[in-house]
Amino acid sequence: MKNIYSNIFSFNKKTLHKSITNLKKGNVVGLPTETVYGLAGNAYSKKSVNKIYKLKKRPKFNPLIVHYFNYKNAEKEVVLNDNFFKLYKKFCPGPITFILKKRIKSKIQSFVTANLNTVAVRFPSHRVVRSILKKIDFPLAMPSANLSSGVSPVNAENVADEFKKNIKLIINDGKSKIGIESTVIDLTGKPKILRPGIISPEIINKILKTRINIARKNLKFKSPGMLKRHYSPGIPVLLNQKTFNTKHAFITFGKKYKNKKNYFNLSKKSNLKEAASNLYETLRKIKKLKFKKIYVVKIPNKSIGIAINDRLKRASHE
Ligand code: AMP
Ligand code: MG
Repeated sequence: MKNIYSNIFSFNKKTLHKSITNLKKGNVVGLPTETVYGLAGNAYSKKSVNKIYKLKKRPKFNPLIVHYFNYKNAEKEVVLNDNFFKLYKKFCPGPITFILKKRIKSKIQSFVTANLNTVAVRFPSHRVVRSILKKIDFPLAMPSANLSSGVSPVNAENVADEFKKNIKLIINDGKSKIGIESTVIDLTGKPKILRPGIISPEIINKILKTRINIARKNLKFKSPGMLKRHYSPGIPVLLNQKTFNTKHAFITFGKKYKNKKNYFNLSKKSNLKEAASNLYETLRKIKKLKFKKIYVVKIPNKSIGIAINDRLKRASHE
């Protein structure tokens, strides 16, 4: 297929080098990760971080995740603790973000963390972002590459559609495998999940040998993923629906649903991991087809289903 986007490039030595040069100059680059596509910039550079907030139209009180190659690069900026190492050993590099105490001498721009004394730290596993992190001497501030409060991008075209010509370089490495954002866990005190993800509370409980809580109320600002309206496709989303109006799009789950042109099955096999990876693409597809409303069946609220329901609930918030 011909590439109709002049700012999308496939991953090779040349584009790796080009990405690094751009990041060093304080420019932003669209990068694939295993969760969703990100908008990356130098976390030490004011210019770079400002660009991220501006391009995304993201409120400044909503902090960014900082990405490192490994824990050794992170330990000079944040305080690592026992729970961190238990989870790091099991899941990193991978789709989990840790909230940790920021060190006073940290060089991370203060508005990356929205002036909080904590930093969200992740070690992505994707080959593209890892090969970049390996070659630079600064961490990457990298939120999802979409306009604030919208649906996260899972491929390079999604990123180009979000920012049009305002972003000069997007590296294409196919569809993001996981398809939803990382699990965010606060480790500054008693561990608490701030944003559910593919690494489920059940599996984290097993590793930490405790019963961790999932934060429900956003009393003090803790995590941008906790904004009530987020991941929104821009049209009404109705949850837990059994019947629906045939004019509208119907998101289904499981084999009992037939193939109809307004049915969009997240996983015929009732596989929650597959459903998560199809969620954002499905929301974008439905919007593109100009449906005016989305009905969604009940999705089992366990394991990865907790993360799917979290995103759907926020997507449905008007
Ligand atoms: P996104 O940039 O869209 O991947 O969303 C960023 C995620 O970063 C949010 O859901 C938050 O959980 C998280 N985050 C970033 N910094 C912090 C912080 N200092 N404290 C708590 N959560 C944070
Ligand atoms: Mg986001």
